[in-house]
Amino acid sequence: MKIQKTFCRICEAQCGLIANTDNEKIISIEPNPDHVASKGYACMKGLKMGDFAHGPDRLTSPLKKIDGEFQAISWSQALSEIGKKLYDNQQAGSRLFSHWCGSHGNGLCR
Ligand code: SF4
Repeated sequence: MKIQKTFCRICEAQCGLIANTDNEKIISIEPNPDHVASKGYACMKGLKMGDFAHGPDRLTSPLKKIDGEFQAISWSQALSEIGKKLYDNQQAGSRLFSHWCGSHGNGLCR
């Protein structure tokens, strides 16, 4: 068992967490009482981050909708197809692009 200080990346509060791990597997997560900002607070989303890493229903590859059904594809195929669509849109004169990350509102919209 290894105890590691870390922080939650779900929202901008970035609460301090203490993760108990065993061979790269998260066993439990607790709030870090010594964290300078969160001072021992963490909500259930942060405390359940182990489920993101080890949940049986988590996505492990990109999904593509083919004939109305999502099918797993490789990262290479996904990045290639997305890159081609972005390139084609740019070549067609489109200046519309956005990206969203977390809840920080730090996405780029043009
Ligand atoms: S533990 Fe909850 S409040 Fe803290 S950063 Fe994560 S999601 Fe935000």
